[in-house]
Amino acid sequence: MKFVYAFNEGNKDMKDILGGKGANLAEMSKLNIPVPQGFTITTTACNNYYENEETLSEEIEKQIYEAVSNLERKTGKLFGSTINPLLLSVRSGARVSMPGMMDTVLNLGLNDEITRILAITNKRFAYDSYRRLIQMFADVVKGYPKKEFEKVIDEMKIKKNVKLDIELDAEDMCELAMQFKDIYKEYAHEEFPQDAKVQLIEAVKAVFKSWNTERAIYYRKMNEIPDDWGTAVNVQQMVYGNLNDKSGTGVAFTRNPATGENKIYGEYLLNAQGEDIVAGIRTPHNIEELKSLMPNIYEQFNSICKILETHYKDMQDMEFTIENGKLYMLQTRSGKRTAEAALKIALDLLDEGMITKEECILRVDANELDQLLHPTFDTEELKNGKVIAKGLATSPGAGTGKIYFSAEDAKKAHDNGEDVILVRLETSPEDIEGMNSSNGILTIRGGMTSHAAVVARGMGKCCISGCGELVIDEANKTITTQDKLVLKEGDYISLDGSTGLVYQGKIKTKDISLSGNLERFMNMADGIRHLGVRANADTPKDAKMAKMFGAEGIGLCRTEHMFFEKERIFAIRQMILAETVENRRKALNKLLPMQRSDFEEIFREMDSSIVTIRYLDPPLHEFLPKEEAEIKYLAMSLGIDVDKIKERISYLKEFNPMMGHRGCRLDITYPEIAIMQTRAVIEAAINVSRENIKVHPEIMIPLISDIKELRYVKNIIVKTAERVMQENNMKIDYKIGTMIEVPRAVLIAGKIAKEVDFFSFGTNDLTQLTYGFSRDDASKFLKDYYDKKILDYDPFKRIDEEGVGTLVDTAISLAKKANPKLEFGICGEHGGEPHSVEFFNKINLTYVSCSTYRIPIARLAAAQASIKLCQK
Ligand code: PEP
Ligand code: MG
Repeated sequence: MKFVYAFNEGNKDMKDILGGKGANLAEMSKLNIPVPQGFTITTTACNNYYENEETLSEEIEKQIYEAVSNLERKTGKLFGSTINPLLLSVRSGARVSMPGMMDTVLNLGLNDEITRILAITNKRFAYDSYRRLIQMFADVVKGYPKKEFEKVIDEMKIKKNVKLDIELDAEDMCELAMQFKDIYKEYAHEEFPQDAKVQLIEAVKAVFKSWNTERAIYYRKMNEIPDDWGTAVNVQQMVYGNLNDKSGTGVAFTRNPATGENKIYGEYLLNAQGEDIVAGIRTPHNIEELKSLMPNIYEQFNSICKILETHYKDMQDMEFTIENGKLYMLQTRSGKRTAEAALKIALDLLDEGMITKEECILRVDANELDQLLHPTFDTEELKNGKVIAKGLATSPGAGTGKIYFSAEDAKKAHDNGEDVILVRLETSPEDIEGMNSSNGILTIRGGMTSHAAVVARGMGKCCISGCGELVIDEANKTITTQDKLVLKEGDYISLDGSTGLVYQGKIKTKDISLSGNLERFMNMADGIRHLGVRANADTPKDAKMAKMFGAEGIGLCRTEHMFFEKERIFAIRQMILAETVENRRKALNKLLPMQRSDFEEIFREMDSSIVTIRYLDPPLHEFLPKEEAEIKYLAMSLGIDVDKIKERISYLKEFNPMMGHRGCRLDITYPEIAIMQTRAVIEAAINVSRENIKVHPEIMIPLISDIKELRYVKNIIVKTAERVMQENNMKIDYKIGTMIEVPRAVLIAGKIAKEVDFFSFGTNDLTQLTYGFSRDDASKFLKDYYDKKILDYDPFKRIDEEGVGTLVDTAISLAKKANPKLEFGICGEHGGEPHSVEFFNKINLTYVSCSTYRIPIARLAAAQASIKLCQK
């Protein structure tokens, strides 16, 4: 097997085996761009290294030595020789770039003797290079502490009374190299290796090993990069930016990576090696200055930028070195960019005729659009922020404020003009006003689809949940971090709902800005996609936002969310605690006008678009008071004995509420609820129709598992709707559908299909019930599943195609056979996740429905899914 490729044997399409850097170095050589000669050791060799218990096979070593000999022939230099020595760099390079995650060793091939001879012509350079090699080798290959070496440099600078490394002279460098050798020996109990081949092989192994450092693993998980890809290693002839003042090194982008502006953006340093720029030891200069300093080099660089951008049809991020007045390119790759820059660059490239409309749509990462749809932290301020805990990144955005431990206190503080962060062990429906008053929500328990998460996403509030590393003391109003930092009520914290990081103190935020580019881009995406995109929106305010973000309708209106406000929750408590049908009706009659007027407003807001209304779903005890004072207040207002209320609350308590008395089961026990809700929907539709607004209500029954259950509830809906229409002497065109969120419903989907007009897959519950993982608690142990590589991602976030996805697909085929006119949607949280959207597009769903703030993401993901499907 071939494990090593010379640059002239590869090309840009070989990223899988050569890694991104290797493939692009090969491509640049093909384009006759000046690249230091070298070769790439493949990702397959990396996997082979791990399969052989972290050893390099004899075959791989042999191929490396052959490649070195070929390189010696090409360059006319000899590796490990005192005459015309060849010096090498060893750099990592995975299939996709993982900036700063893996290791590099430079100046390999130097030893005491070679350095002494090189020093005859340029002593400072020779010893500067040698001390760098010792330092990097000790750090990367051996894992000895870097700071030991930095300490010595700092002492030397103090001794010589200088500020910068560059001010140290040849003698100083020589002395540093000797001291570094001593430090090395102290740790290694042996001399620094003098054999160039040993240095090279050890460096290659160290780069392979760096594939599995904690930070690399973490980065891969965050970016969904598979662990088995492995990294390639690029071995290249060294070129020296630190040779003299006609030398230097720099990094540059062909366009501005922050704004997308079409202008080269970069920095360079004279007389320096690459890591000096990255490490920030010296402040680099703007690349523009090179124009007057080295006009020929600048011009050559400019034209290389043009060649590369035209060739790759994308903004490039490049590294270069100037050695004694000659330019070398060390790397090119598609540059990382902000979402704002991604949009501008994609549209500009389209306008410049470099890419097609489809390519333009594929250029923007759908998830990254999120950056443009929520407030974010000021990037500069964030860099100085102190992270105190990490939880689940549940609802994106940035929030900063004083901490309060109850919804009531949060609301009070907000009403007094304070910025508030609500911190709770877990949230309950009663917290809704407090959540709404807060800039962010932090919960100690809960997962991606638990109540706090769903509500926060719906509101567009940033939220971190499942932050179990914090200890909360609600009674004394404190939270304690793992480092024993105690924060009390009124202390400032900042939440980054996009990373799950909790910061101490205040961090400045920036507001949402919907630029013209975003609008243009989204309109283009809409012209390409087939999958419909609706919103999960529960209130008129949500509906307005949903329209603004481009939803074509509402795919899920969770009616229980309408009952959270104080006045309403009281009526619902009355309804729950009623012991007779008569009393329950009375309570429901209080709720009817409230619900009806909400529906009216939503219908008006959505004008002629579909509004899917899901009937009451949560376990009823969620609405009941928990605190003594509230129980007493309720008892007093209802004229019921406190003990009686407590008895009823305890009767309603369930061990597994998520599998308890909820969904359509509530309508089976209390048909009055379905009657009230149908009356509210149809009366609202009639009232709004009379205003000449077109209404399309779709009534959706949750948690169906049996056909008779469905027929029972449907019968109530149909009869009530008929009655209301007769009373008003008006017909409303409404539909009845069901959620498919219980595995049994999938199995009998054919029967169900004959009774309804549409299916909407509730993939939150379907995931919960298919895996048997609680939506509220699974996050506690799922991290062990990721660590042990049992699961690659959270199935509540990204659809489990193999299991839950197959159930969705099965339900569709069974249902289509029984009722070809049926429509299919999905309204679980997966509806706004790009991988899941791609899957739903592939299995031909009619629409996805997602939280309002994810609508543009779903629109783009749907367009990208259509393009990818056509390309297959
Ligand atoms: C679902 O289960 O996927 C769903 C949308 O309903 P809820 O999250 O309200 O249970
Ligand atoms: Mg559900």
